[in-house]
Amino acid sequence: MRESQLDPATPQASVLRLGAPAAVAAASTAVCGFVAWTDPTTPGGAIPVCPTKALLGITCPGCGSARMLYALLHIDFSRALRYNAVGVAALALLVEAYLRWTWGRLHGRRIRGWQHLSWAPTAVLTVALIWLGVRNIPFKPFTALHV
Ligand SMILES: [Zn+2]
Repeated sequence: MRESQLDPATPQASVLRLGAPAAVAAASTAVCGFVAWTDPTTPGGAIPVCPTKALLGITCPGCGSARMLYALLHIDFSRALRYNAVGVAALALLVEAYLRWTWGRLHGRRIRGWQHLSWAPTAVLTVALIWLGVRNIPFKPFTALHV
């Protein structure tokens, strides 16, 4: 039975609508488990150095994300911010979007969030480019952002 053929008020329909959010939650849990297991804060681990960092010597906007996630999994927010402050903010926005999406799926309606705003892609790209630039300024205090 297709999801759209179900009475949206039935528990069966709610369970079917939560399939995609459950898959995302399972994948996210798997990623968190892998990061926690591999400990990216220890050099030479299973998670390789970012290719941008290894090949070009540039700290990209995503550099430090695995270590940031590892710190968050250990409830160490200051260390997480140190590894990738914009990543922490991005993760918070992604979690908010996920919760909004899941809530909408549960109630059978689409709930618009920040990611649906027409300027959201431009804002995300702009923040990423600014973060890329700021992280690679070669003098203090910006060198503290190198990871
Ligand atoms: Zn990188």
